[in-house]
Amino acid sequence: MARYWNFSAGPSALPEAVLKQAADEMLDWGGSGMSVMEMSHRGKHFTQICNEAEADLRELLNISDEYAVLFMQGGATAENAIVPLNLLATRPGQSADFVVTGIWSTKSQQECQRYGKSNVAASNRAETVIDGKTCAPGTWMPLPNSWQVNPEASYLHLCSNETIAGIEFADWPLMADLGAPEVALVVDASSHFLSRPMDVSRTGMVFAGAQKNAGPAGVTIVIVRRDLIGHALPICPTAFDYTNVARERSMYNTPPTYAIYIAGLVFKWLKRQGGVAALEQANIAKATALYNRLDRSDFYRAPVHPFARSRMNAPFFLKDGSLDDAFIKGAEQRGLMALQGHKTVGGMRASIYNAMPMEGVQALIDYLDEFEQANG
Ligand SMILES: *Cc1c(COP(=O)(O)O)cnc(C)c1O
Repeated sequence: MARYWNFSAGPSALPEAVLKQAADEMLDWGGSGMSVMEMSHRGKHFTQICNEAEADLRELLNISDEYAVLFMQGGATAENAIVPLNLLATRPGQSADFVVTGIWSTKSQQECQRYGKSNVAASNRAETVIDGKTCAPGTWMPLPNSWQVNPEASYLHLCSNETIAGIEFADWPLMADLGAPEVALVVDASSHFLSRPMDVSRTGMVFAGAQKNAGPAGVTIVIVRRDLIGHALPICPTAFDYTNVARERSMYNTPPTYAIYIAGLVFKWLKRQGGVAALEQANIAKATALYNRLDRSDFYRAPVHPFARSRMNAPFFLKDGSLDDAFIKGAEQRGLMALQGHKTVGGMRASIYNAMPMEGVQALIDYLDEFEQANG
């Protein structure tokens, strides 16, 4: 059996230790005589699994009791609808602000517009000049002190890691510093969730589809401040109303039990690694090594301005795009998989989430050297 290095943006690599444990427990979880997949979501075994997952996540991100932790379905795309359905009416103006920095935040705003009003508080959709260097649209990020937040907005949506363009907001702003203390910060953290310490206390809510960095597809993790719950629009489906989901502790209807179980194993694995602070150090080392190699010659080009570069998703181009197919083919022959860029961007993208060890990044760097030597 061969396990390749998987650079997919999502679903993506999971820690091997997690997959092995799941295999060991497949037929009989903890002496229950059944697979987690076969258990009642209301039985004592699954209740234990779900409670432990929540407790471990709270510990990893230092989440206070002021926040509910929900395990939902529909991915981050459904959450783009679920958020406005639940939060637009938290304030009388029923409008939301958006920081538009790529495809995911654009989609979030479009979805919100189906249910209410929205404004663009900041965007990177135009060219700009930073430190004398011209940056193409989408290759930089607007710093929070430039955002024009409507102080009457119900919430401000930020995608803190744009998975496709590879742009990452390292720190989340304090809304009071933006002159909008009453506006709840809503963060789509799908593609860097648990890759670094994150200050949940600055937010009204954080959500993440698990399949990028926290588990398998099928579960969306929602962390929402309890005072924001209870304001759903009348058209909000009952299964998506945070009031119901929070009251029933994610058991309003059948939750994605197996995905929650695997995410719970990932949380335990993260704790064994030393938590998110330790993961952050490993992620800095991996990203630094990869971007340094990409920047070393003009054979490759990483388009995002260094201050905005994502530690998780590194898009890059070959100077000579006619070599793209040969690059991908050679990579696959070496077991370096899923390096094609997103279809809207082209080129390459290496996603190096928590489960990708330095060894895998080094294998990619060695291949980048080798391919340049053969074709440069
Ligand atoms: C992948 C992704 C989404 C969409 O996730 P789905 O689970 O496919 O709905 C939304 N936002 C971000 C930042 C993502 O990376």
